[in-house]
Formats: sequence, structure tokens, C-alpha cells
Amino acid sequence: MSDAGPVRGGCLCGLIRYEAEVYLENANYCHCRMCQKSSGVPAEVAVPVKAGTLRFTKEEPKYFQSSPFAQRGFCPHCGSRLIWRSLERPDDVSLAVGCLDQPEDVAPSEHICVESQLPWYKIDENLPHKRSDDDPDLVAAWAKAGLSHDGRVLD
Ligand SMILES: [Zn+2]
Ligand SMILES: [Zn+2]
Repeated sequence: MSDAGPVRGGCLCGLIRYEAEVYLENANYCHCRMCQKSSGVPAEVAVPVKAGTLRFTKEEPKYFQSSPFAQRGFCPHCGSRLIWRSLERPDDVSLAVGCLDQPEDVAPSEHICVESQLPWYKIDENLPHKRSDDDPDLVAAWAKAGLSHDGRVLD
């Protein structure tokens, strides 16, 4: 990981505001179906948060459980989707970079969950591409829920 730096951000309507320290150089494009569905875009770019540094300075987001092991935090008023959070490791949090006040400071470093990458969505092709089943932790988390690495029910 690179060094963490301070950021601020918030939702479209301004109800949710936060500050955190994030690893700007370790953002990734996630092409999983949960990111596509919950954000409405072909891939979400998210940046990891340094453990324990995320602080909401106005209202708290609401959370939706998007998979057996993760939640997505969103603004109940305007619908902006701000946060991904692990249920098992609450310090494992990432922020949707579009909600940062200075998203231009982010430098994506890789693509993940590329098995569901849309064939017409090609960007930063020179970065490493990883499938969900390249990540043993992710495979284990899905298996624990009785599902394959992409959320399908195991036979
Ligand atoms: Zn809002
Ligand atoms: Zn994803």
C-alpha cells in the first residue's frame, strides 16, 4: 500500500459528509455485478480507507447488504452510493471515488472481478486485471455463504 492521505467527500445533496485517510494510489476498478447494479455504472472505482479513519461529520449513511459479506452505504435522501464495507472486518472499507471532493487525486492501480467486465467498457487497459477467483479471500468468503466466486449457488 502507498501512504494514506486525508480526503473529504460527501453525497450529491450534502446530507452525508465524511473525512478519512485513504490510499489514493491503491484505488481499483471493480467490475462485479454488485458494483454495477448498486452504482449504475459499468465499473465502480473505489479507494481503500486506512483502518479507523473514516468519520461522518453530518448524517450517517444507510446500509444495504449487497452480498453475504458486504454492505453498501448510501444517502437516504439523494441515493448517492458512498461506501463499501465488509461485514466480517468492519475496518475493511472503501469509498466510491466519485463522491470525493477531489476525485482527480485518485490513481487506479488495477481492475478486479474482470470476469463480469462489460466487453465494450475498456479503460486503463495497461493496468493488471484480476478475476474474482484469483483472490483466495474472496473465493473463501463466497464459499462460506454456499455460493461460487461470482455469487452463483453452488451445486
Ligand atoms: Zn445525499
Ligand atoms: Zn465490486
